[in-house]
Amino acid sequence: MPGYNAHRIFNYAILIAIAALAWYESINPKQLLALSIGFYLGTDFLTPDLDTDSTAIKRWGKLKILFLPYKWTFTHRKSSHNIIYGALVRILYIGLILFVLYYVLFKSFPPGTLFFSVYSVYILLFLVGIIIANTLHVLLDVIF
Ligand SMILES: [Zn+2]
Repeated sequence: MPGYNAHRIFNYAILIAIAALAWYESINPKQLLALSIGFYLGTDFLTPDLDTDSTAIKRWGKLKILFLPYKWTFTHRKSSHNIIYGALVRILYIGLILFVLYYVLFKSFPPGTLFFSVYSVYILLFLVGIIIANTLHVLLDVIF
């Protein structure tokens, strides 16, 4: 089973290849940045290994308490490591936490609530970055 650093090295090698391809294809750098930020979060913080006492969950520091319900709900390397909905569940999980936190702090919902704002292409690329990073994690787990 590959460790945390093996996943990081593998993922960032793929990200470098994606960035080189994007540069070659003259992709908008802001869009590549949005994808890369999502990729980074998906590799280092929102990994499928949040379902166990992993290095990824320790990186959250005291905030790792937010993932206790997630850890109790998902058995390690089962549905949390599903390529189709594993990342989507984590995105919805952290999205719900952020949404509630925003509401508690500001007593209202975020303006232009997410997907219908002018930034929707960047949000979509950010989410795709998380999904690609999670997919690569699962593939590496399956290979080794
Ligand atoms: Zn894993």
